[in-house]
Amino acid sequence: MKALVAGGAGFIGSHLCARLLKEGHRVVCIDSLITGNKDNISALIGHPDFEFILHDVCQPVGVQAELIFHLASPASPPGYLIYPVQTSMVNSLGTHNLLELAKRNGARFLLASTSETYGDPLVHPQREDYWGNVNPIGIRSCYDESKRFGESLTMTYVRQFDLDARIIRIFNTYGPNSDPNDGRLVPNFTTQALRGEPITIYGTGLQTRSLCYVSDLVEGIIRAMFFEDTKGDVFNLGMPDERTVLEFAQVIKSLAHSESPIVFRSHISEDDPSRRRPNIDKAIVKLQWTPQVDLEDGLSATIEWFRKRLSET
Ligand code: UDP
Repeated sequence: MKALVAGGAGFIGSHLCARLLKEGHRVVCIDSLITGNKDNISALIGHPDFEFILHDVCQPVGVQAELIFHLASPASPPGYLIYPVQTSMVNSLGTHNLLELAKRNGARFLLASTSETYGDPLVHPQREDYWGNVNPIGIRSCYDESKRFGESLTMTYVRQFDLDARIIRIFNTYGPNSDPNDGRLVPNFTTQALRGEPITIYGTGLQTRSLCYVSDLVEGIIRAMFFEDTKGDVFNLGMPDERTVLEFAQVIKSLAHSESPIVFRSHISEDDPSRRRPNIDKAIVKLQWTPQVDLEDGLSATIEWFRKRLSET
């Protein structure tokens, strides 16, 4: 089939493009490259079934495709705080353009949404039917509120136009191709550990996250798109293995054989959720999906990728 991957030069999008090509699909990758990186798709360029188009999906998109994956958005807190207007627009206007394209093409559509739609959750772990606790005017709202709008618009297209669309909510994901400078936990802690620099914990380090390896996430995306009877569904995709930020720092330091001190920085970003863990029961039942890569194995592979990358720069 012919697939359009918006945001295909990003961290997750680049893995998705590679996986689709491997399965014999034709892939058109669209990316504005504001936070994506062409290095992520360098191994795909030249593949006969792969095409890259430099384009911002806030402008109308004229590509024909049978499958449309919308992953185009800055996604790390520092990334969307540098590009707040672009973030708001790509998740609203950009989503509208891609939904219209899907409607015209009669294509299947998948919106990559986020665990941030739950905000700082008052229900734990988060199930898909939890409505969230989001600050609509907070510093993160350019991201979480625009994703919530994108979800709303997607469901409106399902109801009003019978569009074959589904939504995934991506929880914290890590792995090769993540930007070493994007400020997130794994890239920060890993580069700090490998350079022997202090590993910076924001706040007490008792806030929790659960980290999903990127190959597991891509498997979930593929199943959500291709499984029958997923029209109008919302799926949490993430790892239920919840740990504190301090534990992640200790594991990364140990796996990297690093002497870096672990330091605590009082600055913690506004609206930083104190707990986050997905309830993935729905994906388990409907997609027969569970993450397969455990934290230590995934982090070891990621550390090796960062080690190689840092040695090249
Ligand atoms: N964090 C940290 N030090 C860092 C980067 C992140 O302590 O150098 C914390 C951050 O405050 C948050 C958690 O790690 O509590 C996960 O942050 P990340 O930016 O990876 O993603 P988020 O889950 O907030 O979207």
